[in-house]
Amino acid sequence: MPSEKAKVIPVMVALRCRPLIEKELKEGCQPCLHTVPGEPQVVLGKDRAFTYDFSFGPTDPQGEVYEKACKTLISSIFKGYNATILAYGQTGSGKTHTMGGCYEDSLTGDEEGMGVIPRVLQDLFQHIQDKEDIEFSVRLSYMEIYNEELHDLLCPVAQRATLAIREESNGGIKIQGLREVEVTSFTETMRHLSEGSHGRTTGATAMNNTSSRSHAIFTLNIDQKKKSDMNDYCRVKFHMVDLAGSERCKRTQAEGDRFKEGVNINKGLLALGNVISALGDEGEKRNHIPYRDSKLTRILQDSLGGNSHTLMIACVSPADSNIEETLNTLRYADRARKI
Ligand code: ADP
Ligand code: MG
Repeated sequence: MPSEKAKVIPVMVALRCRPLIEKELKEGCQPCLHTVPGEPQVVLGKDRAFTYDFSFGPTDPQGEVYEKACKTLISSIFKGYNATILAYGQTGSGKTHTMGGCYEDSLTGDEEGMGVIPRVLQDLFQHIQDKEDIEFSVRLSYMEIYNEELHDLLCPVAQRATLAIREESNGGIKIQGLREVEVTSFTETMRHLSEGSHGRTTGATAMNNTSSRSHAIFTLNIDQKKKSDMNDYCRVKFHMVDLAGSERCKRTQAEGDRFKEGVNINKGLLALGNVISALGDEGEKRNHIPYRDSKLTRILQDSLGGNSHTLMIACVSPADSNIEETLNTLRYADRARKI
């Protein structure tokens, strides 16, 4: 069924700088990062400029991030591509705000604050309603990687087991025992998300006591069948990932268990950076993409590169107190874009 194949760059990078938050204002922080009006560019300090596919500043609303950077991925999935949206950045940089916003708000009708995921779902279900000649089936799953262990967020905490990843003979990735819930409406999907989000593992660190130390992966499996010809069908995956904080361990005074978490979390982010970078290699080198180096990249294996489109949204704080981590994020995003 995927008839027309649009020419889209496989990995796009958007930079999003949030406003100074109350805590930073109270501490007298000054902004050290500026967006350039009309250009997809940011400048750190006086003169360190970085260019991305898109850049969003402190006053750019949620809707604009979605319309400009994310919406094309919705068209991609209806053309038969897999799609992945990743939010990257240090704890407190705006990843969860960007991906989710407040799920409860979107259920009670406060639409302005809605992040990427609810907007994707709104457009998805609207499209399904409009396309009368196609039969859709949408199943969702929601998992988290914590300490290189995989857990099902749709499963009650007490019953949660560690899940194993299996590669199928056709190269597809299957997670054994992961719940897949069939959904038919926006509200129904948001309820599952909202419930799953409450069960996310969080650990108190010196940096932010509600900081999330895990990668949260929300996946839609979408089957599309032409009603006039049931043999004409396609199946795609759409992953939306709220990555764990990218900050270095020493900054958060990590010790004991938490240090181990830090090491493992970085393993996923490191592997992700290497995979994205290897996707841009040419010739021989392109033959080895190090997907197997972490759980995160194994899960995303069939949705990064190949028949798929990826958007990384790199989130940063403008505060001068965060300049070191902000520079790390700008560089990581820069490397991802050089493919
Ligand atoms: P992370 O998930 O990266 O740790 P959060 O999404 O929790 O960060 O954001 C940290 C704080 O900053 C939250 O209070 C959030 O509401 C606020 N925030 C983040 N991005 C924005 C934005 N674009 N506009 C306004 N507030 C924001
Ligand atoms: Mg978060």
